[in-house]
Amino acid sequence: MQALPLMTESSPLPQRVLLVENSRAYTQVVAGAIEQQLELPVTIAANLAEAQAALERHDDWFMVLTGLVLADGDRDTVVDFFLHRGLPTVVVSGMYDEDLRERMLRRQIIDFVLKNTPGNLDYIVWLVQRLERNRRISALVVDDSAAARQHASSLLELFGYRVVQAEGGEAALAAIEADPTIRLAVVDQEMPCMQGIELTRRLRALRARDRVAVIGVSGRDDPDLVAQFLKNGANDFLRKPYSREEFFCRVSQNVDQLELIGSLQDLATRDFLTGLPNRRHFLEQAERLVPKLHDAGEPVALAMLDIDHFKHINDRWGHETGDHALRAVAHAVSIHARRQDQVARFGGEEFCMLVSGLDDASLGTYFDGLRRRIEELRVPVRGGELQMTVSIGVCPARPDDDLHSLLSDADRRLYLAKAGGRNQVVAAG
Ligand code: GH3
Ligand code: MG
Ligand code: MG
Ligand code: MG
Repeated sequence: MQALPLMTESSPLPQRVLLVENSRAYTQVVAGAIEQQLELPVTIAANLAEAQAALERHDDWFMVLTGLVLADGDRDTVVDFFLHRGLPTVVVSGMYDEDLRERMLRRQIIDFVLKNTPGNLDYIVWLVQRLERNRRISALVVDDSAAARQHASSLLELFGYRVVQAEGGEAALAAIEADPTIRLAVVDQEMPCMQGIELTRRLRALRARDRVAVIGVSGRDDPDLVAQFLKNGANDFLRKPYSREEFFCRVSQNVDQLELIGSLQDLATRDFLTGLPNRRHFLEQAERLVPKLHDAGEPVALAMLDIDHFKHINDRWGHETGDHALRAVAHAVSIHARRQDQVARFGGEEFCMLVSGLDDASLGTYFDGLRRRIEELRVPVRGGELQMTVSIGVCPARPDDDLHSLLSDADRRLYLAKAGGRNQVVAAG
């Protein structure tokens, strides 16, 4: 994937989906579903020339969904075109041909989806969402064989996960302890110092089943092994060698499951409309974090963000569209946020963020970037689209500031931003 710019922890993840297919009716339906259900931007191209132009026009590409028969190229040409540009590629094809499917899957494509089958639109939306979310999840691969480790790792990377490798049990346990973003572990049974089942048992003392999914793997044809893995806390088991599709299905199923359980637990800490953390949860987290960051000598800042003239949006388009607009802003806030930022829907049409590690100059740039991101949003409404702006008040903390004073100072600056004409960031004064 060398052609894509290197991602650093501090840059927001690219979101744009390229949809390449010559049937306009089909692209409209797929693009509509992705844009409405996932709120990701979609660009449509009918052929490779249009795809090339689109790739040059934007620089925030996340993945491509492509047909195989285009006016200016077909099959291998099409797939190679995107793979050479380093784009994660999913083939969506109307051609049912086992040889073709197998040939395509030997390339580094993520999946081969048959279109015009029942449920295929739901599958595509699910797949795009799964791949989008995978980028925030780390997977641990534990195997003493470098080749096996590499095989599993490259598949997981293809699906978008960040991958951590360990060649034995002790290293695996240390990695789990050190990295809370690890939510999935693929654990080989046959390892010299600590076997996979023993590792799974010890891993469970550190992380529960609903926190890290463990998939045991083994090349041995021993029916007892599966039961032993499961009894010792594994969520699932895979026999080696496994196919890419089997691996992807099992891994996704387990990660989906974690999210499902997580979202049930999240009912108390998340805002129902936007899915963002709620005010209470934010305050609890921030209360704990602010002194810690102060002690570590990290710069900290608190920002309050309020949508401008939001009442007009409700008045003009109705409450339901207002809700849709709120979700769009929440989504923009959460994709702008870096891993270390805390965000919340503070109430109504107000959001807040606790950010660390940014000096005064970078704070201005960072929040102005968020302001522009929201200004560029286009929310579809009857016969058109609506746009919004936000005002943001940012308060960089002094060493003795507590959460309470940060909140009231950010609020005061938000008021100044409103008074100064809205659609602006006030970070000083
Ligand atoms: P200003 O630029 O001064 O912030 O103007 P404003 O209209 O955004 O501010 P005001 O506080 O007067 O109005 C906020 C509106 O947000 C009023 C309320 O009905 C609306 N609102 C609050 N929560 C929700 C919600 O969950 N859904 C919808 N649709 N509207 C909401
Ligand atoms: Mg082994
Ligand atoms: Mg308000
Ligand atoms: Mg407002």
